[in-house]
Amino acid sequence: MSTQGLAPSPTEVELTSAEEILKVTWDDGHQSVFSLTYIRGFCPCAECQGHSAGDWTYITTESAPVLVGIEEVGNYAISLRWQDGHETGIYSWEVLRELCPCKDCQELQGSKHAMHQMPGTH
Ligand SMILES: [Zn+2]
Ligand SMILES: [Zn+2]
Repeated sequence: MSTQGLAPSPTEVELTSAEEILKVTWDDGHQSVFSLTYIRGFCPCAECQGHSAGDWTYITTESAPVLVGIEEVGNYAISLRWQDGHETGIYSWEVLRELCPCKDCQELQGSKHAMHQMPGTH
């Protein structure tokens, strides 16, 4: 039952719409709590991120993003559909985990972490 070499994958993806939170539970027991503003801000699609690999760009939206759909893409990603019609963002498990805003993940990735590109955070 070794999962060595395999990246963690989510066992549960849950949208708590009242709190505007996307909660991801991983098969290694980790839990990621994303605010919708945050996860929309780091939409990984080419339109939002351009083609610069490695560097995250934070996208600001005019109004608070509203998530209208979550779709599974194969066994490796989810795509998020937003009320403004944006639906090209495909969040692979790897990307989701990299975006995890918790302190542990931030420390793990240091200045590479997307959180550091967010305007107004310390
Ligand atoms: Zn996008
Ligand atoms: Zn984390």
